[in-house]
Amino acid sequence: MRYSESTIEDIRMGNDIIDIIGKYTRLSKSGDRYMGLCPFHNESTPSFSVSADKQLYHCFGCGASGNVISFVMQKENYDFVETIKYLADRIHYELPEENYERDYAEKVRVKDILYEIHKKAARHFYDNLNSDMGAHARRYLDGREIIKAVRNKYGIGYAEGKNDIYNFLKKEGYEDDIIEKSGLVVPDKNGGFRDKFYDRVMFPIFDIRGRIVAFGGRTLEEGKKTAKYLNSPETPIFSKSYNLYSINYARASGMKEFILVEGYMDVISLYQNGFCNAVAALGTAFNDNHAGVLKKYANSVIILFDSDEAGTKAALNAINVLVKNGIKAKVLQVKDAKDPDEYLKKFGREAFAQLLKTAKSYVLFQIESKKKKYDMSDMTQKIDFTKEAAKMIKNFDSEIEREVYIEETSKMSGVSKEAIGDEVKKLSDNTLLNMNQKRYMKEKYKTNISGVDDARQSLLYIMATNRNIYNNLREYIKKEELMEDIYIKLFDMIKEKYKSGEEIYPAELVSCFENIDEQNTISKIFMLRYEFNDIASSEKAVNDQVKLIKKVYYESILAGNDDIGTVQKIIKEKNNLEKLHISLRNES
Ligand SMILES: [Zn+2]
Repeated sequence: MRYSESTIEDIRMGNDIIDIIGKYTRLSKSGDRYMGLCPFHNESTPSFSVSADKQLYHCFGCGASGNVISFVMQKENYDFVETIKYLADRIHYELPEENYERDYAEKVRVKDILYEIHKKAARHFYDNLNSDMGAHARRYLDGREIIKAVRNKYGIGYAEGKNDIYNFLKKEGYEDDIIEKSGLVVPDKNGGFRDKFYDRVMFPIFDIRGRIVAFGGRTLEEGKKTAKYLNSPETPIFSKSYNLYSINYARASGMKEFILVEGYMDVISLYQNGFCNAVAALGTAFNDNHAGVLKKYANSVIILFDSDEAGTKAALNAINVLVKNGIKAKVLQVKDAKDPDEYLKKFGREAFAQLLKTAKSYVLFQIESKKKKYDMSDMTQKIDFTKEAAKMIKNFDSEIEREVYIEETSKMSGVSKEAIGDEVKKLSDNTLLNMNQKRYMKEKYKTNISGVDDARQSLLYIMATNRNIYNNLREYIKKEELMEDIYIKLFDMIKEKYKSGEEIYPAELVSCFENIDEQNTISKIFMLRYEFNDIASSEKAVNDQVKLIKKVYYESILAGNDDIGTVQKIIKEKNNLEKLHISLRNES
């Protein structure tokens, strides 16, 4: 939260709810409440009620509910922070310059300098490459047949090491601490710094907006004990688990299908041959964050990794990530070349374009990879493989897809299409049975929901408004039994308040939630629940509520659990519920 709880509470208390709402609708006193026409929906008889006592409002017509902050948020369409500023202004309350704002401004400042440093460093590396110093680096690039235009497009440069970049940045006027933050230097033994990249061809890494955020360096010291590729470390402007190399150019290509490759050279080589939609995850496995970035620009991806074991493993991982994130995945492996770069050099652009069209469904790729693990000349292993394949195929709802994969599996295994088809069907029937069972359990559990939601709210209300009842109750309730995040949070807040000996103001609890729906729910708890007149009826109600809450919680665990130990334990606890009786008569 941007402002401290006490600041928010000062501002909330300084703005009387009757005052504020009175500006939007005429309120008249009725018993211990004020009533008026609802400012949120059209009506002719008042159903909008405001409690001066609780500093909360509730509309019995449309369900709007909240405190003074919720009211302004909804009525003026402000977010939480804007509302706090508006209400502070109204009572001439000077908001402290919170740490958050200072920290934020400082972070932005540091990032801006880092962008600037990277831009200047890239220019410097580029100049190095084209000077005498860069002669052997140019020879390397010539050997890789990267043309001048593409070298410039990707801003390729050369890092000499030997404090070249450190001295350059010092001369440009940067302090040690920000230079260190850039990741271009590392501390040395003598308490100074040395360049991180030594005698390497430098590939600037761009973000989606085309800003240089990091570098990758390829060593020129063949055969030495140094990493072939070295990337910048994580910095305030670079996170390798989010960054995809060349995503800026792939996005600009306007194509909806991207090619996912393994390294810089693959991307660059593809670009040079007119395939501008290739990207690579650098120095880390393709993950959900990468998929999240990709998804904004592409709906389909061709995975083009090396065909060795490591490449196959990486491809299987990428498939899982892409499919999980709803991106279509196809797989391609180059033949007669070790990577796409070599393939393009050997066979040319046309052949590669043809090859792209043969990318196969990821399912076939998965089935084929499975096959490699079985000895197909062994009868039992052949059967096991076919069963494994059938398991994968059954996940498809479409008959057409199933048929295609069944046919391919039949070709691979020599088992008839009919036999595989029967296996798939058998497996699907079992799954269906399972699904129906789960659905039934869920329905059963849902019928309890409306009642249990009431019970949770009522229990929280009674605990928040009656310290003695809370003391009698608290050891019987585990917060996870409340199941919904919002109730768990409220329960924790009530606990905290009592622990620190503070009084509980309903409207204060409401403004601990920034989201308007949550404010609404919490506010309703305090506006709509009623207290019982005598201890006997309170006790009965509380016991019924606790039992229902626990019962639903246990059932939800049983519905999704196959672990026999857990199931037995929960069933035992559930049976013990019958005997549970909580007394509220202890004074504390
Ligand atoms: Zn209303």
